[in-house]
Amino acid sequence: MQLLASYLSGSWSQGSGARTTLVNPATEAPLAEVANGGHDLESAYRYARTAGTLELGNLTFAQRGALLASLAKAIHGAREELLALAVANGGNTRGDAKFDIDGGAMTLSYYADLGAKLGATSVLADGEPIQVGRTARMGGQHVWTRRRGVAVHINAFNFPGWGLCEKLGCSLLAGMPTISKPATATALVTHRMVELFAPLLPPGALQLLVGPAGALLEHLGPGDVVAFTGSSGTASMLRTHSKILDHGVRLNVEADSLNAAILGPDVDLTSETGGLFLADVVRDMTQKTGQKCTAIRRVLVPAGRESDVFEALRDRLGGIAVGDPSREDVRMGPVATAQQHEAVLAGIARLAAATEEVFGGTGQVTPVGVPAGKGFFVGPVVRAAEDPMWCEPLNDHEVFGPVTTVGPYDGDAEFAAEFVARGHGCLVSSAYSDDRDWVASFVTAAAPWAGRLYLGSSKMAAQSPGPGTALPSLLHGGPGRAGGGQELGGERGLELYMQRTALEGDASVLKSLLGGG
Ligand code: NAP
Repeated sequence: MQLLASYLSGSWSQGSGARTTLVNPATEAPLAEVANGGHDLESAYRYARTAGTLELGNLTFAQRGALLASLAKAIHGAREELLALAVANGGNTRGDAKFDIDGGAMTLSYYADLGAKLGATSVLADGEPIQVGRTARMGGQHVWTRRRGVAVHINAFNFPGWGLCEKLGCSLLAGMPTISKPATATALVTHRMVELFAPLLPPGALQLLVGPAGALLEHLGPGDVVAFTGSSGTASMLRTHSKILDHGVRLNVEADSLNAAILGPDVDLTSETGGLFLADVVRDMTQKTGQKCTAIRRVLVPAGRESDVFEALRDRLGGIAVGDPSREDVRMGPVATAQQHEAVLAGIARLAAATEEVFGGTGQVTPVGVPAGKGFFVGPVVRAAEDPMWCEPLNDHEVFGPVTTVGPYDGDAEFAAEFVARGHGCLVSSAYSDDRDWVASFVTAAAPWAGRLYLGSSKMAAQSPGPGTALPSLLHGGPGRAGGGQELGGERGLELYMQRTALEGDASVLKSLLGGG
């Protein structure tokens, strides 16, 4: 069986000691192993701080953008192989796998284009020059320069392709050498991508640690950045890690999120906006088997309309075949790990104690094309909450699987926003309405609780990617429970990896520093 190697200090190293086996979550067949330790991480940091900083740091944005373009091209060249790995190791259908792999390539391409646009410089202006003295001679200007440390990326199991690329697009374009650590259980896609990327990048620009983190954080120092995606439990541990605290290491957290979707009181389910709402709910429940941090978990519909919504959801979900995701007729695969399987079933049981069944019972399902008793399968589940605002398990616990809960409200936009707030901070929430006044009231009250608000309407329905898709041009992250982090968002995505400095002095000197005459 393949023993996955880490790429550290410029070479591939297999580590040593006990091993963890990576499996196919549909069949539980072993696919590969990783060593649980035995890596020289201190040297890896040193290598990033020396070779990585020198080689990558000395390039301009345009040159770094060209590197990112070559990474996107490498993904396209190995697309079928990567899709097959995502299906085998992630429990992804082909569609799910494309979402991860093509999404990764698209994000890299976006940042490649941004690099070209930023051009032959390595310093960015932040805003316009400011007069700070008596006359225009004495000026002020904020600038961004790259941080002189190491970017450490720790990713969740659900997006091994996109997760690698969305973080890397920003850190490499900003000029920070990066050590990336994927979740162990689904590391095959990330590992293969780094095999493809490594020869295309300058020495030290990208290193990979597969297997448990071990002493990864013990070598952090001033100027370093940690970008983490995963559970709030692991995030809490990172927030109090002594190296992060002692060295003021910048920490970006993308964690759990109880995203809400609200059906506006003006929307007929048979309208274009109503159809968009239903399609988005069903897509978010079943795409990646509901294992998207942005998936809709909580739904509000106008009181008296619940039964129409339930009927439409039953109708759509009833046609979805669950089973071996390598089969063409299967629309939803298993969850990614045995641990996730247990956690999702436990989460459904907790919800079931406070809600009524609408579809799928408590998640038991007979998967198609799978050996009896094998695989980490959960069927799609819809629950009904009588009083969603005060349903504790609904608003306090993220069930990271194909599960959503629907409840009624009186159509009031402020109430809907208050429901969004009950999630204590989310990555995204969505509202479906063609009533602009209602939407304006909702946005004003809900925006402080969400990193992104998706406003579904008849005018955009035909070109909408749905709320579950994080776009490179828009911020990804959310307040409160969602971690308080911010990634992507075009040029904003670089800020995590750069230092903002206020310059004050002779206005003409400031202008010339930024390439002006
Ligand atoms: P997790 O258990 O917290 O693991 C996330 C990552 O942290 C993995 O790479 C894991 O490595 C690593 N890790 C675990 N312990 C660590 C430690 N002591 N030091 C350093 N790294 C450590 O989360 P998960 O179960 O993979 O992911 C599911 C959660 O992620 C869900 O709650 C979901 O909401 C959230 N998520 C959020 C976003 C977002 O963008 N906000 C996106 C996707 C997922 P090992 O795998 O080796 O243990």
